[in-house]
Amino acid sequence: PEFAQDLKASVRAIPDYPKPGIIFRDITTLLGEPRAFRRAIDELVQSWAGSKIDKVAGIEARGFIIGGAIAHQVSSGFVPIRKKGKLPHTCVSMEYALEYGTDKIEVHVDAITPGERVILVDDLIATGGTAEGAIKLLRQIGAEVVAACFVIDLPELGGAAKIRAMGVPVRTLVAFE
Ligand code: 5GP
Repeated sequence: PEFAQDLKASVRAIPDYPKPGIIFRDITTLLGEPRAFRRAIDELVQSWAGSKIDKVAGIEARGFIIGGAIAHQVSSGFVPIRKKGKLPHTCVSMEYALEYGTDKIEVHVDAITPGERVILVDDLIATGGTAEGAIKLLRQIGAEVVAACFVIDLPELGGAAKIRAMGVPVRTLVAFE
């Protein structure tokens, strides 16, 4: 669709960041364009129009920006999922796979009331390791993860397929090879 082309054009490519050979997809340019930012949020919200969402869970840090805007739009609460050591109250943590090694993400133990319907949000899905860890974390505290959404998909890395295989529908807006 046309909006996807416009959105795609608003994402900046940064060659060799954070290391040689990697093209980083920079969404700060999309966020800085009022029409692109609104359109991205509106299109993501469309996917579950009409169904009740209790919480939007956003992954640090760009998932906070997208997720906060979505939570406002659907009148849900917002739950931050953060890198280890950043949240002040008692946390549940989950190890997740990085390209080399592992890291940990955390959520407050009482962030979700068991059975609540939650949407997971991040800016981009690559291998899906981060989102997989976040879904496990949310399920551990009793969430029903009803969808995961991302502005950008890197389909060759297989992340969206991995998340769908966990039984979570995935919505993405633009894809880069
Ligand atoms: P994954 O765990 O799916 O391999 O990586 C996704 C995570 O890394 C997301 O939290 C995302 O923000 C970050 N990430 C990886 N590559 C990029 C990129 O090119 N651009 C942006 N904006 N984020 C990236």
